Amino acid sequence: EVLANQITAGEVVERPASVVKELVENAIDAHAEHIDIIVEDAGVSKIRVIDDGDGIKNDQVELAFQRHATSKILTQRDLFHVASLGFRGEALPSIASVSDVQLVTAQQDASQGMQVHYEGGTLLEAGSAAARKGTDVTVKNLFFNTPARLKYLKSQATELAKIVEVLNHLALSYPQVALRLRHGHKEILRTVGNGDLQQVLAAIYGVQQARKMLALQAEDNDFRLSGYTSLPELTRANRSYIAILINGRFVKQFQLTNALIKGYGSKLMVGRYPIAALQIEMDPTLVDVNVHPQKNEVRLSKEDELEAFIEETVRLRIQQENL
Ligand code: ADP
Ligand code: MG
Repeated sequence: EVLANQITAGEVVERPASVVKELVENAIDAHAEHIDIIVEDAGVSKIRVIDDGDGIKNDQVELAFQRHATSKILTQRDLFHVASLGFRGEALPSIASVSDVQLVTAQQDASQGMQVHYEGGTLLEAGSAAARKGTDVTVKNLFFNTPARLKYLKSQATELAKIVEVLNHLALSYPQVALRLRHGHKEILRTVGNGDLQQVLAAIYGVQQARKMLALQAEDNDFRLSGYTSLPELTRANRSYIAILINGRFVKQFQLTNALIKGYGSKLMVGRYPIAALQIEMDPTLVDVNVHPQKNEVRLSKEDELEAFIEETVRLRIQQENL
């Protein structure tokens, strides 16, 4: 069992940023309104995620560390509607198999909470805890028992940048959740959680830059698009500043970012990319999210149409700006 979890960990937990992503997604799935993320040494020595979400029932805590014991959606129909981010029940067991994990949790009306401590997948301690609603997970010494993985990690700066990227995407996807990221004593990101996408952009890129964004709003029979994209002069050297969300979920879709870029026509210099956050709403049955959950890839039944729609929306907006 521990070995199986370590093998799965190879897929689910590639680096500290993957741990951050899984833990924060769990907090979001648990309806947290505030999520605090504290990392040390770019997450290698410590990652702590504190949420004020639903918490875990005392008798379900150990189950949460068993593979495929997810409490979430499991029917075919639900997979299309993707109520939650996690649905495989692999993250916690995988993380616990390659680190030292302490989890403290309590539900709203529980008279007491519960805490567990795992090391390398083995339960060391389980007991009661204070009844503060929510969940507090601390992951220490990531990959302590899988030296090859540890060696594969890049510099602290790179690993931290990956954590920041994960959080930026989550912040853009969940503007109604207040996220706060600290690295040591330094606060790196703080969103207010009032649902305003422009506020999130300001938190990530600064107020000045956020003001230089063009608001987008368009709708046809299949899609509804809203969001922001930068003026052609505000560009970056790579496309990682383009966030596309489909039905509230961040997706990595090369063709869709291409469509956005094409909308600028000749206004963008070669090798330069805009900053953008697009929220697209569409019929959930046209989106298959089960293709590659870890990589944020989805399969879209009307991908060509969506590309054309994005390109056209951006083209019109850029033209408008030039009038
Ligand atoms: P999944 O998210 O795919 O269900 P995980 O391994 O990430 O699987 O988590 C296992 C289970 O633990 C979840 O289904 C959920 O019931 C519970 N859980 C994990 N983290 C939290 C949290 N922060 N708040 C509430 N429940 C949680
Ligand atoms: Mg999960």
